[in-house]
Amino acid sequence: MRDHLDRIRLDIEAINAFNATPGYGITRPSFSPEYQGATAYVVKELNKIGAEVSICRAGNIRGRVPGSEPGTAAVMMGSHLDTVAHGGQFDGVVGVVTALEAARAIVEDQVPHRRPVDVVIFSEEEGSRFGRGLLGSSAWTGQLDPGQLAAIHDDQGISFPVAMMKAGLEVSDFGILKPDDVRPMLEVHIEQGAVLEKRGCRIGLVEAIVGIRQLNIKIDGAADHAGTTPMADRLDPLQAAAEIILAIDKIARQSGSNTVATVGRIACEPAQVNVIPGRVRFSVDVRDSNLKVLESAVAGIIQHTEDACTKKDLNFKIDRLSEAEPVTLSDNIVDLLEKKTRAQMVEPYRMVSGAGHDTALVAALAEAGMIFVPSRDGLSHCPQEYTRLEDIALACDILLAAVVELAA
Ligand SMILES: [Zn+2]
Repeated sequence: MRDHLDRIRLDIEAINAFNATPGYGITRPSFSPEYQGATAYVVKELNKIGAEVSICRAGNIRGRVPGSEPGTAAVMMGSHLDTVAHGGQFDGVVGVVTALEAARAIVEDQVPHRRPVDVVIFSEEEGSRFGRGLLGSSAWTGQLDPGQLAAIHDDQGISFPVAMMKAGLEVSDFGILKPDDVRPMLEVHIEQGAVLEKRGCRIGLVEAIVGIRQLNIKIDGAADHAGTTPMADRLDPLQAAAEIILAIDKIARQSGSNTVATVGRIACEPAQVNVIPGRVRFSVDVRDSNLKVLESAVAGIIQHTEDACTKKDLNFKIDRLSEAEPVTLSDNIVDLLEKKTRAQMVEPYRMVSGAGHDTALVAALAEAGMIFVPSRDGLSHCPQEYTRLEDIALACDILLAAVVELAA
């Protein structure tokens, strides 16, 4: 356990030395020089243990430690190394370094295994360069074809394949992941919330990853003089928006055990102190791990919008921005991880992930499990993001024990 901890610390430091904004959090967009430096470090470490490294069309990097029976489904583990702008040192990184360390331990200790053990770095998980999260895993699992991938551009107009080419990434694996390729996918990740910390738990085991619905609601009324328009004559969309926003909070609280709903962006026109607004637009983000509960919360929000606008004679339009389906992770894998956690004399906490992860995409075609480690004060995607090294090393031990059993 000791030397795992030291090597993990060195790996985390080595990866985070590649950073475009030193002193202001970690900034490492996909295929940037910093990203290339960080992935090259991991590839070098994978080469040291004799792993076969390949790069797929979507820029995902896989280091394979072959087993004694080639052609069998691989035990896959890993996460991502891209970050949001001014993000933290641990998001994604802990999943890569624990996978790397587990693979090292298997090779060094000459642990016999039939099936291949894969260490994976997914590309563009955050969506901070190409505007779409989980891009690498979406493409690798066949949810985006090469044509769609080529049509995706960054702010500078550089397409995804051209960005890969400019970074010197050479594709060596033209296939997509199939159900027979992976059994199972395992990912260690920081919680990015404060549930574990509040409960004093060191390890969370993810049973489900929430589904997400994002809406844009636009309400049109009539901009008018704030002094000369009597209350009875107004068509004020902001008043309707206020009612709807309060209802959204209430719907989430009354909906299901883990429903969350957020209005995070609101714009009002013309936004003048002495003018009744003419148009209001706001976003809605709704999440739940249960598809029925999620859909019914969204239906309730739409109904409320309709009622509030009709009552006030206002026009409205609802656009659906993006959708992700809820994912239930494998019971067998969660049970196995629970056993391995207890073997470390630690009681795990079973939980739902409120954030999306690459593992959710792989889970659509193979068994999958996720191990969460606590985030201090629940902070993530910011320079203050922090997870104790001892907890990361513990997660690595659990991961290693599970992989050894699964690959045997
Ligand atoms: Zn992440």
